[in-house]
Amino acid sequence: MISRRDSLKAGLVAIAASATVGVSREASAHDAPNTLFTVEPTLIPIANSTQQFPVRRIYCIGRNYAAHAREMGSDPTREPPFFFQKPTDAIQYVAPGKVVDHPYPSLTKNYHYEVELVAALKSGGKDISIERALDHVYGYALGLDMTRRDLQRMLGDQKKPWEIGKSFDRSAPIGPIYPVSALGSFSKETISLAVNGVIKQRATLDQMIWSVAEQISKLSEANELFAGDIIYSGTPENVGPVVKGDVILCKLDRLPDLSIKIT
Ligand code: MN
Repeated sequence: MISRRDSLKAGLVAIAASATVGVSREASAHDAPNTLFTVEPTLIPIANSTQQFPVRRIYCIGRNYAAHAREMGSDPTREPPFFFQKPTDAIQYVAPGKVVDHPYPSLTKNYHYEVELVAALKSGGKDISIERALDHVYGYALGLDMTRRDLQRMLGDQKKPWEIGKSFDRSAPIGPIYPVSALGSFSKETISLAVNGVIKQRATLDQMIWSVAEQISKLSEANELFAGDIIYSGTPENVGPVVKGDVILCKLDRLPDLSIKIT
């Protein structure tokens, strides 16, 4: 049996040995873990910076504009907010000034756009008050919550999880993140989406049923929030389908446009 003293001594010998080959104790403490293979982190560029924002979780709120809630068949006046998630690597970065190819996904014949403001958190917590919620926001981006509407509806009708209607590869196109420190917060800005030059969605952010602060507060009751979490804050009415060849152009006051082409 190896005593604690012997194992400590063995550890010191190992540290001394590593020092002789030029690996300091500090450096080895920060070495990457010995993983079987590498899983790439999901990163979103930060505007006007060489730094990137690492994504921990993607949360989305459902039916957060009254007219959209009605078009989805619910009564916006009586329903508490509900949330779902997309996998972190559903992010598809869309650089400003470019029209980025976005492959039409498998399994759907009714592929819908939803333009949304996205809040990116720099810190988190549990049971965050509405008053303190915006203190946790690092910045904002313009995003798309792409949706296989036929699967979402069919599975919902069957009382099955509609996850694959919302959570799939590249289902979360997003532009760069703009820090609150440079941009301030959003309040009544206009958000809009056009397909092939025809406006389909247009609203002001103050039409949200639950504000970003309220969303953060509510979400933090269900899950502890952390730096790296991002929240898609809901879409206005007039969601609709796209087909191959369509070009989607999203606009939000004070941010650059976001555009994808369905391929
Ligand atoms: Mn949405």
